[in-house]
Amino acid sequence: MPLAQTVYDAEPIPEGARAEVDRMLQSGDLFRYCAPENAPVTLLEGEFAALMGSKYALAVSSCSAALFLSLKALDLPRDARVLIPGFTFAAVPSSVIHADCVPVLCEVGENYRIDLADFDERLDDSIAAVIISHMRGHTSDMDRIMALCNARGVPVIEDAAHSLGTTWRGRNIGTIGRIGCFSFQSYKLVNAGEGGILISDDPDIIARAVIMSGAYEHNWAKHLTAPDPVLEAAFVRAQNSLPLYNLRLNNLSATIIRPQLPEVARRVTQGRANHDHVAARLNASPWIHVPDKLPQEQRAPDSIQFNLVGMTDEGARAFADAAAAQGVKVQIFGMSTDNARAFWNWQFLRGPAPDLPRTRSMLMRACDTRLPARLTQPDLDLIVEAILTAATSVMEHQRAYGT
Ligand SMILES: *Cc1c(COP(=O)(O)O)cnc(C)c1O
Repeated sequence: MPLAQTVYDAEPIPEGARAEVDRMLQSGDLFRYCAPENAPVTLLEGEFAALMGSKYALAVSSCSAALFLSLKALDLPRDARVLIPGFTFAAVPSSVIHADCVPVLCEVGENYRIDLADFDERLDDSIAAVIISHMRGHTSDMDRIMALCNARGVPVIEDAAHSLGTTWRGRNIGTIGRIGCFSFQSYKLVNAGEGGILISDDPDIIARAVIMSGAYEHNWAKHLTAPDPVLEAAFVRAQNSLPLYNLRLNNLSATIIRPQLPEVARRVTQGRANHDHVAARLNASPWIHVPDKLPQEQRAPDSIQFNLVGMTDEGARAFADAAAAQGVKVQIFGMSTDNARAFWNWQFLRGPAPDLPRTRSMLMRACDTRLPARLTQPDLDLIVEAILTAATSVMEHQRAYGT
């Protein structure tokens, strides 16, 4: 029996968006700075900041744009070194290069989280900023990371593209570092096709990011939705002194995002229940290991990652093929020549190729399968059966023939 729906189908956009989109198509009011106040993008920023419990938010065209603007807002000198995890999406090292900085990679462990001993070793005086990428929503130990970075006065940007709804000791991911960045691309929890947002409590960071995002002339004034003399002073300081990169979000996208924000809590609960059901069943297999979350973390997964145990390279490939033959797409991060999450495929990096043996060996056995919140129990069980059957058949063959 095939899956009732493919894991790549999106959830419908809530009905509430329709009337507002229609109204906008009538008026042509698509640019965030057209209206004197209450533009959908501005309303989204207020709602998102409130949802996260942060002071300020700036909506932009993608999470990549948010990461780039975060680095620019920190005013790092050219060629500043930025420490990032060796397991993340290519957007992260790309944003560092885009900001004229140099990415420095650190090791990531078998549990997809930053290897803190290696992180600590690489966090030397040459590091000007850190981007913590909560890859696939897996949270690294933020207590230890913040302690190490605060001790050196190094600012932390959280790439929370895939972590909306995740908490760390009850605190929203994205609010722990100086700046948090999120994505509204279709494969994330909230879907506008494209879009991103950054949050911060720091008025200077926000003022600088707002202007560089394309708030030319005095358009920054439209970001002052309530009297805020501190923020206003930061805007005045930044006026005319920064380049405009025009990475704004448009009103249509904001209108599609806003009615999804009240859905976040439900999607998080469902996604977590789905993930934990599949994880428990997969962990019963001796050939599959789903690493535990950290105790401080409450996850908001829309996919599952697991490691193949005891399989050769050939076996791992045969496993992915066998799962695909049953209609379940499992991607092994390190097994294709173009996977954007395998660091050795980031050939745009300058200098010697990064040498991260632990991250590499993890990526060669780490599997990735989408598990969107809307999947039903029968769908989940079909996915589980396909994965378990594929693993068992490969291991029986491997044991019988020693390949
Ligand atoms: C999706 C993603 C990004 C990039 O987001 P865009 O909005 O597509 O630019 C960055 N980092 C991580 C971890 C992601 O999952």
